[in-house]
Amino acid sequence: MQTPTVTFVTLGCKVNQTESEAVAQLFRQEGYRVVDSGEPADVVVVNTCTVTNTGDSKSRQVIRRMIKANPESFIVVMGCYAQTAPGEVLNIEGVDLVLGTQDRNRILEYIEIARAAQKPQNAVHHIWKARDFEELPLLEEETRTRATLKIEEGCNQFCTYCIIPYARGPVRSRRPENALAEARKLTEAGYKEIVLTGIHTGAYGQDLGSQWDLTGLVRELVHISGLERLRLSSIEPMEFTPRLIQAIEESGVVCRHLHIPLQSGSDAVLARMKRPYTLADYAELLQNLRAKLPGLAVTTDVIVGFPGESEEDHQEALDFVTGCEFAGMHVFPYSRREGTPAARYPGQLPNAVKQKRVREMLEVARQSQERYKCHFVGQVLDVLIETVDEAGTAFGHTGNYLEVSLPPSDAERTWEAGSLVWVNLKAEHLGLS
Ligand code: SF4
Repeated sequence: MQTPTVTFVTLGCKVNQTESEAVAQLFRQEGYRVVDSGEPADVVVVNTCTVTNTGDSKSRQVIRRMIKANPESFIVVMGCYAQTAPGEVLNIEGVDLVLGTQDRNRILEYIEIARAAQKPQNAVHHIWKARDFEELPLLEEETRTRATLKIEEGCNQFCTYCIIPYARGPVRSRRPENALAEARKLTEAGYKEIVLTGIHTGAYGQDLGSQWDLTGLVRELVHISGLERLRLSSIEPMEFTPRLIQAIEESGVVCRHLHIPLQSGSDAVLARMKRPYTLADYAELLQNLRAKLPGLAVTTDVIVGFPGESEEDHQEALDFVTGCEFAGMHVFPYSRREGTPAARYPGQLPNAVKQKRVREMLEVARQSQERYKCHFVGQVLDVLIETVDEAGTAFGHTGNYLEVSLPPSDAERTWEAGSLVWVNLKAEHLGLS
């Protein structure tokens, strides 16, 4: 019998990428061969996104394109868009199975059910009824440098611009024993760095009773033998409790890099976004963290052009963000998402205004990042080498997430992907002219 084949097309964020890879692993365990998306395959999986309205239409386009290119294949659509609009997806002729953002570990079972029934199946359930974290197979990359460890799914915060709680459901935390077991497997396989990820990672433990929270998990993880770096991904400002800050401070393993979403540098806008902090809270947090964690890199996300954002609000935001001295920023123009409260807010801004504000915010970001990098010229920092190109140039990151490139002629050492080396940083290593 011929080996069955499966192919994946993934839209959207890093979490989706990771989940597609994990689902691919399930297919491999059942004897499938995973092929590139241009090749014919018995099963085609489209993992969709719904973060913006554009995410929905792009997802529909990709589904139609894959059906057209693979008329004989079994077509599965999963992910956030499928979760929020299963009926729309099922109405696309040629779709055989719709899965949302849960039960992905039962994908092969659902394929059998749909094949036996000889009609398209909707396996999407009400996401707010989901109570448990869904375990998916362990991912291993060839280079074995940095691994992601997903510890949480879902979000209960309902910021007024965000569709994620509707697409991913409530907070579900991974059982600590499972998270720790996977972390041990990763370090045994040679990974030196683990990045904790989730949809709302700082909410870890909310659903596990009073026994576990992010701090408790971090305190256990840092003792895993062979783990050199533990990187916390995005943590909401109000979730930096004194206990968490102390745990970071006491451990040499937790990276001096924190991603703390600001979202707006205007108090009026923050209130309309229903973000539970003020600019003063945020500034105080930065001051506190920097006093305790010297050299700390703080990166952030900022949305500009939120409905009703006046020119004064925007100027206030530019000033506030300048004062924060971020080491890196992701800047997004506000994107109207049907189904969220902010989509119906008055004062929606024209694209031209949003684009102008994005450019101004990006310029602040560029200058802050350059200033941050300059502090480290002449300092000796640890670099985890992630790749080495054919010419022998090595690329990697420091613990505080400076992107570093090391030319082959830099030292009498051969760079090896996966090794942790100490480097006296020069301006050119950091891309500074
Ligand atoms: S905390 Fe993050 S995921 Fe949750 S609603 Fe707000 S922006 Fe969306």
